[in-house]
Amino acid sequence: MSQDVTHMRTAVKLAKYALDHSETPVACIFVHAKLNKVIAYGMNGTNVSISGISHAEFMGVKQIQDKYGTDPSIFSEIVLYVTVEPCIMCASALKQLGIKKVVFGCGNERFGGNGSILSIQNDTSTVRSNKFVSVPGILRKEAIMLLRYFYVRENDRAPKPRTKKNRKLDRETFPPLQWDKYLSHEEFLEEFGKEHENSFSLNQDVYDSIEWDLIDSNYGDDFMVDLQKEIELTETALKNI
Ligand SMILES: [Zn+2]
Repeated sequence: MSQDVTHMRTAVKLAKYALDHSETPVACIFVHAKLNKVIAYGMNGTNVSISGISHAEFMGVKQIQDKYGTDPSIFSEIVLYVTVEPCIMCASALKQLGIKKVVFGCGNERFGGNGSILSIQNDTSTVRSNKFVSVPGILRKEAIMLLRYFYVRENDRAPKPRTKKNRKLDRETFPPLQWDKYLSHEEFLEEFGKEHENSFSLNQDVYDSIEWDLIDSNYGDDFMVDLQKEIELTETALKNI
């Protein structure tokens, strides 16, 4: 699990980078499980590109396909870390590609495809063999805070701020994490261990404290250069396997 947190930190940094560049703060990285290295990344591009489907996951999938071809077998080695639960469309695409595992931060209450609205990862009516593991709640509060930063800022920019409530940034209260929407009790124990069983029954985060430094820092071009370097090293390593 600590490895999941490490990778999710990178995704959260990317989401903050997106926020600082006037985008919605949703981002992801694709990690090659055996190499434990980033193979691709994605950010939401809906604001700038005005395209409803330029979700972060699609950007990463395209990077992988451009580099490694459209044979989806590589996805069986890949874990996706995304700050917000994939929407139904992205979850379906990931399932068809045969992704190994999806780890996400906060739920997507309106469009979520990994438990919030539909549970595409467990759906057996299509591509039966491609069920994948989906784990919620990793750096969940950080992911929620980035969305709140975004909504407060957008509301401030609107000619007529919609509600007073949206103007005030809430740093204290968070919705409960209803684990059983996303994981069975057994799956939870397998993922987090018996020592965290209380979190499951209390609908609480496994890591309760917030890494404020992570979301209040700014990540510049050097961060992106380092990420690109890691992706190139992964490519070299995969060519030599
Ligand atoms: Zn999506």
